[in-house]
Amino acid sequence: MTKIDDLPIRDELRGQTPYGAPQLDVPVQLNTNENPYQLPEELVARIAERVAEAARNLNRYPDRDAVELREGLAAYLTRTTGHPVAREQVWAANGSNEIIQQLLQTFGGPGRTALGFEPSYSMHALISRGTGTGWISGPRNEDFTIDVAAAEATIAEHRPNAVFICSPNNPTGTAVAAETVLRLYDAAQAARPSLVIVDEAYVEFSHRDSLLSLLAGRPNLVVTRTMSKAFGAAGLRLGYLAADPAVVDAVQLVRLPYHLSAVTQATALACLEHTDTLLGYVGRLKAERDRLVDALRGLGLEVTDSDANFVQFGRFDDTHAVWQAILDRGVLVRDNGVPGWLRVTAGTPAENDAFLDAVSTVIKEL
Ligand code: PMP
Repeated sequence: MTKIDDLPIRDELRGQTPYGAPQLDVPVQLNTNENPYQLPEELVARIAERVAEAARNLNRYPDRDAVELREGLAAYLTRTTGHPVAREQVWAANGSNEIIQQLLQTFGGPGRTALGFEPSYSMHALISRGTGTGWISGPRNEDFTIDVAAAEATIAEHRPNAVFICSPNNPTGTAVAAETVLRLYDAAQAARPSLVIVDEAYVEFSHRDSLLSLLAGRPNLVVTRTMSKAFGAAGLRLGYLAADPAVVDAVQLVRLPYHLSAVTQATALACLEHTDTLLGYVGRLKAERDRLVDALRGLGLEVTDSDANFVQFGRFDDTHAVWQAILDRGVLVRDNGVPGWLRVTAGTPAENDAFLDAVSTVIKEL
């Protein structure tokens, strides 16, 4: 049987493993930070209508510039953050992963490097590798906040071409203060002109404001967003960025023509029409997230403060054994490989109760 390594693949891909959160069929799935609420029926009907309209024109390529969708996303950002964002500042793709890939294809690549503060979202490093960009792992404090002085020193030493700041950070839930982003931006620009990417996939769940307010006057700053979490549309695959219009022009150099299908654009536009209903679910999830934090602390566990729709809890000597014991009780959580810690996504109240029951039983048996 032919193995991957028998093929003439790129050397840096040899021996690597693909991204792979387990997709197991268990009753309570709290492992991939999805929104547990299905889309409301009125929205499902509206998607059907909009997609039917788009289907009539599927003989044609879609709007390559996704103008109406970018207009809608810009209006959403403006309304929810209070900072005016214009359509020219917004770009959309198939998930924020594709946005990050386009950014690294444009600003990274062979001979260039990207820096992130780990533990963080593993795809930042994986997409770097996939685009031939060297990866630099920066430090975090014991409590998973960013050590600004150490970060500045790492930036000065390595002079990366791109810096990732994930806020709220996956898998820890930690939000980053605006002052920290400003100091890292300045450090990155002092080392060399460098793209600073603020990944705000979970920002709608945060106690803090969006960092979009920092964009003005900072052409090398990018904020990435997604409809996978707050909009409850992970299956849609729609991510976007806000930045200086020049950044949007720059990613045109690498994006595939017509990358965003007419069906995707129509569905995303329907979701945007129902923003208020969807953000109502976000409110419920924030309350459930806070309940999980309190309940896990009540069980005597350590819990990292969370600004996201998930909670990091520990610490365990044998993290994998605890993960397995929780799974044996029908609840799938995530072992992100952070020694001693597991991560649980906030689900419905019933799912969270099932999770808390499972954990309290498991820790009694430790
Ligand atoms: N950024 C972060 C921090 C994430 O956790 C995720 C998804 N888990 C993404 C980006 C990518 O999301 P998507 O491609 O679904 O937009």
